[in-house]
Amino acid sequence: MSQTSTHPALRFLGATRTVTGSRFLVETSDRRILVDCGLFQGLKEDRERNWKPFPISPSDIDAVVLTHAHIDHSGYLPALVRDGFSGPIVTSDDTAKLCEILLRDAAHLQEEEARYANEAGYSKHHPALPLYTREDAEAVLPMFTPHALEAPIDIGGGIMVELQWAGHILGAASATVDLLAADGSDRRVFFSGDIGRPTHPLLEPPADPPDADVFVVESTYGDRTHPPAEAEMQRLAAAINGAADRGGMVVIPAFAVDRTEVVLQALHELETAERIPRLPIHVDSPMALSVLGLYRAAIAGNDSGIRSDMLGSSPFDTSRIHECRTTQESMKLAELTYPSIIISASGMATGGRVLHHLARLLPDPANAVILTGFQADGTRGQRLAGGERAVKMFGHYIPVRAQVEVIQSFSVHADADEIVAWLRRAPREPQTCFLVHGNESASRALQDRVIAELGWCVAVPRRMERVLVD
Ligand SMILES: [Zn+2]
Repeated sequence: MSQTSTHPALRFLGATRTVTGSRFLVETSDRRILVDCGLFQGLKEDRERNWKPFPISPSDIDAVVLTHAHIDHSGYLPALVRDGFSGPIVTSDDTAKLCEILLRDAAHLQEEEARYANEAGYSKHHPALPLYTREDAEAVLPMFTPHALEAPIDIGGGIMVELQWAGHILGAASATVDLLAADGSDRRVFFSGDIGRPTHPLLEPPADPPDADVFVVESTYGDRTHPPAEAEMQRLAAAINGAADRGGMVVIPAFAVDRTEVVLQALHELETAERIPRLPIHVDSPMALSVLGLYRAAIAGNDSGIRSDMLGSSPFDTSRIHECRTTQESMKLAELTYPSIIISASGMATGGRVLHHLARLLPDPANAVILTGFQADGTRGQRLAGGERAVKMFGHYIPVRAQVEVIQSFSVHADADEIVAWLRRAPREPQTCFLVHGNESASRALQDRVIAELGWCVAVPRRMERVLVD
């Protein structure tokens, strides 16, 4: 049973001292609103939480507010709906469209993983089961209720929600949940969602934080500053040129949403400036290609999230782009004998087609693997970034002899300097600013900075912690 109280409260159900599993519950005497419904990814102890019953009965939740489509924010929705949630899922139009692609793919990956585990016999569970099925994902899609940004949304029970542009990926929003008490008092909780960089090459920078009593802010890069973009472009060009000179292949594990777009845009820029040779570029991910279609449509359709100088342009279309949709097209890439670039999901090499490319190409020192952004603890991407000499895939260890580079400038998260500068633009100091969606060291480092530079009351909550917002 859920804990009820006459005092409005906020419960941190996930993304506390870790970067995945974003789930926050706002409770009033008669309403429960879940902000984000993410999957735990990365470390096994986190992933195992996906299999535990949801901390409150899903049928007791009145509405979900979804900040953006990334699976660590949306990927538990199929399980929540299967287990009884039947309310609206309040989000932006672009997020609803992206979720159609992402949730179907997430379910497909769950099914594939269970199938591989059963075939190869490497699962502890017999038979290995998917967390949820494609049917479970399909059941979520009609429940999305897309809303315009910066327009009040009445959830009922005296709760209003407003979404504002977060600049992280297409459709990404921050959410303000407004709790209007019967006595006319008003408490506002602001959830940043994931906050983008002011320098995103395609997207408008995030809107300034609003007037609110409580802030819940991400801290993925709370302990880091992104290196200057030009230095990173230099390293990207050097890695591609090195592999091309050695006659090798370049594999870029890339998140299907936004990262593939930003990588293609960077390759386009390097090619045009003749800083890299014009190599064939294979985008090997049906999901990334579907998302690319949405980005192209957003640019052509003057979507409000697209930078005005990008409208009407075609920033992704390098000279030799090949789209691999079918498994056969993907498998054919194994026959390539000349330097080329493969962009494939998933971005942290936790699953997807990129694993087959990595298993084949990591053992050869002629090749290069370019990681593009945050790699969560416990993922293969993080092990590769950390210099491990062998990584486990499909039940076997694969030697890592290829060159491995991490290019941070592809990150779609604001760094510590950018978050502090953004928070500084809040119209007033909140009563408390909670830092979530970061490893503990990242959240703590950002806590120190916000206290030192803004003088706010800043806390790093524990998982399942409950605080009052009265
Ligand atoms: Zn995100």
